[in-house]
Amino acid sequence: MSLHAILSRVTAATAAANRAPGSVQVIAVSKVQPLDRVVAVLDEGHRLFGENYVQESQGKWPDLRARFGAVQVHMIGPLQTNKAKVAVELFDAIHTLDRMSLAEKLAKLAQARGQSPSLFVQVNTGKEPQKAGLLPDDTDAFVAQCRAMDLPVQGLMCIPPEGEDATPHFAMLAQMAERNGLPGLSMGMSSDFEAAIAHGATHIRVGSAIFGARDYGRAPGA
Ligand SMILES: *Cc1c(COP(=O)(O)O)cnc(C)c1O
Repeated sequence: MSLHAILSRVTAATAAANRAPGSVQVIAVSKVQPLDRVVAVLDEGHRLFGENYVQESQGKWPDLRARFGAVQVHMIGPLQTNKAKVAVELFDAIHTLDRMSLAEKLAKLAQARGQSPSLFVQVNTGKEPQKAGLLPDDTDAFVAQCRAMDLPVQGLMCIPPEGEDATPHFAMLAQMAERNGLPGLSMGMSSDFEAAIAHGATHIRVGSAIFGARDYGRAPGA
């Protein structure tokens, strides 16, 4: 696959779902990819990327932004509270707001800085014990609490259980976003983004289908 092929499939899936052209943003997930692959996608004109690790992003994006101009980088990996300060300076959006202690920290930082990245609340739609995210039953109250803290919650995000049909998870997330009046839906990855688009995804997170397989030997700390 390539960026061009993925963008064509996104355009087709968007049209097939009777959705407006351009209503789905493609986050090119560049975690642990070699720099030359990332530069190649920037050279093709893509300007929206996703990262999982604060430290890796710090080492990469300030330089690439200086070189390529207006690039948006979204944090899609788990965020430790002690890295929140660096994260709000580095990222345009954080898709992994998953607990009150992080919400409180982000609210403090937003107050001090007078601005905040856009936020997505991560929902553990499969109720997997090892997975981050709010349980579905706790999500409405959490969103309300975030709003009471003036956090700019834009939408919901999910990572469906591996090896399961993702469709019911996408449908559940869409329903939860709708009932909370949230316009953003961060869902769908390389293997299932077309189904996510059919269910209303506004942000799909596509890594290996654009960049090729990841070599986790490159991950920090790996
Ligand atoms: C790595 C990652 C992706 C991209 O996965 P692919 O299967 O390579 O498209 C998407 N979302 C999250 C949260 C990720 O960590």
